[in-house]
Amino acid sequence: MDTAVLDLIRRSRRVLAICHVGPDGDAIGSLLGLGWALKAMGKEVTLACADPVPPFYRYLPGQGEIVRRPEGMFDLVISLDCSDKERLGDAYREEYHALPLLNIDHHVTNQYFGTANLVDPEAASTAEIVFLLLDELGLPIDPPMAQCLLTGIVTDTRGFRTASSTPRVLAIANRLMAAGASLPEIVSRTLERRPLAMIRLWGQALPGAQLRGKILWTEITEAMRAEAGLTTVDDGGLVNFLLTAEEAEVAVVFSEKNGGQEVEVSFRARPGWDVAQVALSLGGGGHMLASGATVRGGLAEVRERVLALLEESLAAQERARRET
Ligand code: 5GP
Ligand code: MN
Repeated sequence: MDTAVLDLIRRSRRVLAICHVGPDGDAIGSLLGLGWALKAMGKEVTLACADPVPPFYRYLPGQGEIVRRPEGMFDLVISLDCSDKERLGDAYREEYHALPLLNIDHHVTNQYFGTANLVDPEAASTAEIVFLLLDELGLPIDPPMAQCLLTGIVTDTRGFRTASSTPRVLAIANRLMAAGASLPEIVSRTLERRPLAMIRLWGQALPGAQLRGKILWTEITEAMRAEAGLTTVDDGGLVNFLLTAEEAEVAVVFSEKNGGQEVEVSFRARPGWDVAQVALSLGGGGHMLASGATVRGGLAEVRERVLALLEESLAAQERARRET
């Protein structure tokens, strides 16, 4: 492992760790797992996320300490699960921009924006990279760390079902369970649970699903969300569900937000395709098989523009495959 990374951590005393806006299980899990570890190393730690912790991650030890806007001064900032600086949101305040920044991430679209970068696109989750870092630092894993890190792994692999679920992932999960993490509790809290309002929202969004070539897409309007009684912009995994359609190679969900001024776009693909590059070209990012972007504009206009770009990209990928 890069000695610059280890040195930054070893020398730091007051650390600010930040995960991405609109946090998922890997964002919160890697943030808390690293937070517990840094405290065990005797450091002063502040954990931050610009958006609130979603209710179903509130079983995680330490989540109540996560602040939305950090206060005070630090000697190191650590970015977790962010492919670019913008993903840090308002938690990365102006006065922290001059501090050393350690970028820990697993997105293939990572911009290497840190003073030091611990980026592994082969890793299934950022939590997995944090685990390897703690191993390298020789830090024993306690049950709270284990529970947080395994949550990141389980949610980003959707319960070890993704193509990223390698033998290394399972070996790390094994060690985290041996250190006290509960796999059944994590699965039940994260993968097997959603608000009834989310199921009602799916009920509204599913009839509108349309197949365009090998792309299955649907949209969620702000009116649907209000009707279902939801305030968050996530789709509760609807895009993953769409991709289970036999006819689909790629699934897309368009979610209207900010009073119709922006659209959150979520892409998923079956192995063999790449949706990371389309997301990157729209100002977002992600992985080959799971990516996203926030695009300015109205729902219908953004949808047509993005579907055209995606069709073009898939056609180019098909051509490239035929040529090799
Ligand atoms: P999801 O569809 O679950 O929101 O996101 C899928 C993947 O794409 C995640 O790894 C997430 O970090 C990334 N992603 C989603 N939205 C954005 C975005 O607006 N910007 C960037 N850089 N990545 C995003
Ligand atoms: Mn992640």
